[in-house]
Amino acid sequence: MSDCIFCKIVKGEIPSKKVYENDQIVAFHDITPQAPVHLLIIPKKHIPSALFIDEEVAQEIMPEVFIAITKLAKEFNLEETGFRIVNNCGLDGGQTVDHIHFHLLGGRKLQWPPG
Ligand code: AMP
Ligand code: ZN
Repeated sequence: MSDCIFCKIVKGEIPSKKVYENDQIVAFHDITPQAPVHLLIIPKKHIPSALFIDEEVAQEIMPEVFIAITKLAKEFNLEETGFRIVNNCGLDGGQTVDHIHFHLLGGRKLQWPPG
């Protein structure tokens, strides 16, 4: 997707503060952090939203997403305090970038339920 901001981050066409990368996944700091730790974990492949997690994506990519999340949670010292993983999907879900991404939020007490 040529006009997708996260595809551009994957390709290095716009800058990001990357914290993790492998063949399938990139993770970087959210540009507008909502917590002391606010990372975004995304597949390199353009998948528009959680509605597009088919069997192949579920088997090939999603495990890598969660392996990255676990590594990063430990690296950013969230093991003791806990953290939150968020995926916003669609309009009511509050999705603003149409390339599936998982927020890893931590470093402060988070409220529940979400607004
Ligand atoms: P969502 O609202 O769930 O779609 O999340 C999109 C997130 O992407 C927001 O938290 C934005 O702050 C973040 N974001 C948008 N553009 C960039 C960028 N260029 N680099 C890092 N994060 C970004
Ligand atoms: Zn994309």
